[in-house]
Amino acid sequence: MIPIIKPDLDDRELNAIRRVLGSGWVAQGPEVKAFEDDFARHLGASHACAVSSCTTALFLALKAAGVGEGNEVITVSHSFIATANSIRHSGATPVFVDIDPATFNMNPDLIERVITPRTKAILCVHQIGMPCDLGRITEIGRKHGIPVIEDAACAAGSEILWNGSWEKIGKPHGDAACFSFHPRKLLTTGEGGMITTRHAEWDARFRLWRQHAMSVPDTVRHGAKQVIFESYVELGYNFRMTDIQAAVGRAQLGKLLRIVEERRRRVGRYRELLQGIAGLGLAMEPSWARSNWQSFAVRLPEGCAQRDVMQSMLDDGVSTRRGVMASHREPAYAREPWSCGEDRSSCGCSAGTCRLLRESEIAQDHTIVLPLYHQMTDEEQDKVVESLQRAVTSTNKR
Ligand SMILES: *Cc1c(COP(=O)(O)O)cnc(C)c1O
Repeated sequence: MIPIIKPDLDDRELNAIRRVLGSGWVAQGPEVKAFEDDFARHLGASHACAVSSCTTALFLALKAAGVGEGNEVITVSHSFIATANSIRHSGATPVFVDIDPATFNMNPDLIERVITPRTKAILCVHQIGMPCDLGRITEIGRKHGIPVIEDAACAAGSEILWNGSWEKIGKPHGDAACFSFHPRKLLTTGEGGMITTRHAEWDARFRLWRQHAMSVPDTVRHGAKQVIFESYVELGYNFRMTDIQAAVGRAQLGKLLRIVEERRRRVGRYRELLQGIAGLGLAMEPSWARSNWQSFAVRLPEGCAQRDVMQSMLDDGVSTRRGVMASHREPAYAREPWSCGEDRSSCGCSAGTCRLLRESEIAQDHTIVLPLYHQMTDEEQDKVVESLQRAVTSTNKR
């Protein structure tokens, strides 16, 4: 079976884990600090704070931006559900805007018309690793005094052309960027996340909140020559990463450049091989963006049923996934009057569909994600293309 992605875990990660277990300090400690420093240096970020997942990272970033009860956050429905969930957990309402079908990312033309006095942040997503139009989005944010949070869950290793030079996504270009280290992404620590920010005060609050808002961390108390009593200065959380995970993350980070380079080469090869399939749509990479190709999605030719194509390929031993979900169609969202791009009581859309989010719905229904991993062989890639060709030919109803 050809999988959708393969994590790259070997002796380097095993040795890192052994080193941490042998040290006697396994919870958040010196390895987490070292991983944060390595990660910040890699991105050119001034601050990086490790947390338990990208979902908790997003929640803390929104909290630092001042998002709370009764506020609105502009985002996309076309994303993994954690994006919108983080907004709801903060007490605010997600306001969904549609995507640009060429890039699968937030369409900046649609942002200003949904800004209200309650808008407290824009949460944009670098979907499946493709940088979104940060130049225009941050300009809109600045103009209206609204912070921009980047959901960079999939975007470790992606780059954007910024004032004439290529910079890593997550430097950050908005106010904060949130990364995921789930195994479906390019780097993994099993579970884990990281927040980078340009604001020293935000970083200080992330560090406090992730650790129960404890005034003096256990690492400091452990090494102190004098007795210290800590206090709890706010309502905090346990969103910590462990030193075991961080040690794995450091080993993974050392592989990132090679992983991205190889994925880009494989995508170039896909583009050539897939030219032969009539009507297939391939993702467009804007001239100012370089994707890490966390996923490689193709738009199926008209008349092809997504499920049939995927089943046919599965029968050939090739895993695929359907296009990125549309949060507004999930039961947890569809029943809310605000899940449509406007108030459902007046717009006439029925639950689970929204005429303002058509491109998001089409992307979910008519794209599939093909296997892509840096360890992939030419033979495996040829097999994927042959299988897709066969599936498209045999399932096309036209
Ligand atoms: C994976 C993903 C998340 C969630 O990341 P976790 O680390 O699993 O919490 C959030 N947003 C997007 C766009 C993702 O792809």
